[in-house]
Amino acid sequence: PTFKSLELSEPILRAIAEMGYTHPTPIQAQAIPAILMAKDVLGVAQTGTGKTASFTLPMLEILSDSRARARMPRSLILEPTRELALQVAENFVNYGKHLKLTHALLIGGESMADQKEVLNRGVDVLIATPGRLLDLFERGGLLLTQTRILVIDEADRMLDMGFIPDIEKIVSLLPLNRQTLFFSATMAPAIRKLADAFLHAPKEITV
Ligand code: AMP
Repeated sequence: PTFKSLELSEPILRAIAEMGYTHPTPIQAQAIPAILMAKDVLGVAQTGTGKTASFTLPMLEILSDSRARARMPRSLILEPTRELALQVAENFVNYGKHLKLTHALLIGGESMADQKEVLNRGVDVLIATPGRLLDLFERGGLLLTQTRILVIDEADRMLDMGFIPDIEKIVSLLPLNRQTLFFSATMAPAIRKLADAFLHAPKEITV
């Protein structure tokens, strides 16, 4: 397939071309159509497979398609480390450069006051580590009631780092009626159990 045949719109296709990508990787070819059809996805893929674009591109498409009344976070991407969150934010900016969507990066080691300020202005997408997201939530002013797309990335590392209770808490703050995209490098039994808890009839993709 080509990116065009995956039914991404012109501003996104232009950004992809400017990145120098000619063809979707296998995970992109499978995940992008499923996500655009509003399906949950369970992706078993390592870093380096093009996994980030496989969820970021269709998310941008969905968000740019629908008009929100007020700027409330409509998508949340959870990453286990600040480095990964920074990389995803960089991808989001590159792929979304011809769109007018905004994001906040909620990670440790940065000023909470600055992050609250960004949230107050209103953003479309949150890219966060679980601990910092919960810290900000507990301080008030962060509403996740319009957050209908959730990405749990690197679930196996989330498990190893003890973040599952935090993720369960975060999931309980989101609407039940949401789309969940879950990625892990491995599919050990404990990960499968988590996927079963968080996903509804997902499309499973292994690359
Ligand atoms: P990721 O697996 O998301 O960490 O992506 C690995 C690398 O592949 C990143 O440097 C991306 O910029 C690059 N990449 C992602 N999708 C494509 C593609 N379709 N064609 C070429 N490079 C890509």
